[in-house]
Amino acid sequence: MAATHHSLIILGGGPAGLTAGLYAARARMDHLLIEKGAEGGQVLLTDWIDNYPGFPDGLSGFDLAEKMAAQAKRFDLHSMFGNVISMDLSAPIKQLELDNGDQLSCDTLIICTGASPRMLGVPGEKELTGKGVSYCATCDAPFYRNMHVAVVGGGNTAVQEAAHLTKFASKVTLIHRRDELRATKVVQEKAFANEKIDYLWDTTVTGIEGNEGVESLRLLNRDGTKSSLAVEGIFVLIGVIPNNDMLPLDMLNADQGGFIPTNCETNTVIEGVFAAGDIRSKKVRQVINAAGEGATAVLAAEEYLTNLN
Ligand SMILES: Cc1cc2nc3c(=O)[nH]c(=O)nc-3n(C[C@H](O)[C@H](O)[C@H](O)COP(=O)(O)OP(=O)(O)OC[C@H]3O[C@@H](n4cnc5c(N)ncnc54)[C@H](O)[C@@H]3O)c2cc1C
Repeated sequence: MAATHHSLIILGGGPAGLTAGLYAARARMDHLLIEKGAEGGQVLLTDWIDNYPGFPDGLSGFDLAEKMAAQAKRFDLHSMFGNVISMDLSAPIKQLELDNGDQLSCDTLIICTGASPRMLGVPGEKELTGKGVSYCATCDAPFYRNMHVAVVGGGNTAVQEAAHLTKFASKVTLIHRRDELRATKVVQEKAFANEKIDYLWDTTVTGIEGNEGVESLRLLNRDGTKSSLAVEGIFVLIGVIPNNDMLPLDMLNADQGGFIPTNCETNTVIEGVFAAGDIRSKKVRQVINAAGEGATAVLAAEEYLTNLN
C-alpha cells in the first residue's frame, strides 16, 4: 500500500482536468492528476468538434484529447492511472482511496470527474453514436442541415434543444413517453408555436436502425402500437448522469441531480476543495467551459495554498 501527499490533486483527466493539469504544471505546483480511463474523458466519445476555438477546420474528439494531454505533458504534468473509490474531506488534509488500496492525500483537491449522457439503452444506439445518434444539440445541430431529426425527451433541455435544431433541420419530431411535456410553460409555448416541430406522445424508442448512419427509429406507443419513423438523426436528451460515486455528496452539498455547486471561482462548500467541468452544478456542459473552469480552479487552489503558508 503506497501513501503519498501532494499540494494539489486533480481528479479526472477530461478537458477540465487536463486544463487544470496544464496550469498546475506550468505553475510548478506539487500536483498529481488521477485518471481511471483514457485521458480526454467524454471528448473521446465525440466524433467531431467544431466549436472549440483555435481549430478553424474543427478536429476529431480523439485529436483534441491528444493535443490537450500533450500540451500539459510538455510542462511535465504528473499523472497516474487510478480509480478513486472514496475520499475523506472532513479535515484540512484530504484523503483519497484508490481501488487497489493505495491512499493519497492532498491540501487541495480539484474534482473534475465529469458526467455521462443518459442513454436509451436500445439496440442500434451504441453502434450509431456519432453516426446520427447524438446527445448534444448545441454540439451537433449544424451537422443536420435540411434533415428530418427526432428529439427524445420532455424536459427543458429537450424542448429548448428541439427549438434550436429547427434553425438547421427541415423538421424535428419530439418523442415523449408521456402525454405532456415537463418543460416550463414558457418553453412549451415557444415550442408549440414552432411549425417545424411535431410531437409523438406516449411513445418510446425501442430501436435505432441504419447502416452507415441513422435511417429509422422503431417506436412503441403506450397502447401497444408499434411503428417506425424515418429520420436522419436522433438527439437523446433525457438527462445527464454525474460521475459522483466516490464523492461525499452531503458534505459537498450536492444538488438534486448529484452535481456539485460552486461559486464562480469554483470553490465548493469545503475549504480547499474545488470542482470544475461537467460535475459542477450548472446549465452549460461544453469543452470550452470545462477547460475554463479547470484553469480557474488551479488559480483558486494556488491562492488557497498561499494563504495556508
Ligand atoms: C457524444 C458527446 C459529444 C459531445 N460533443 C461536444 C462538442 O462537440 N463540443 C463541446 O464543447 N462539448 C461536447 N460534448 C461535451 C463535452 O465532452 C463535455 O462537456 C466535457 O468533456 C466535460 O469535460 P470534463 O473534464 O468536465 O468531464 P469528462 O470529459 O466527463 O471527463 C471526466 C474524467 O474523469 C474521469 N473520472 C471519473 N471518475 C473518476 C474516478 N473515480 N477516478 C479517476 N478518474 C475518474 C473519467 O474517466 C473522465 O476521463 C460532448 C459530449 C458527448 C458525450
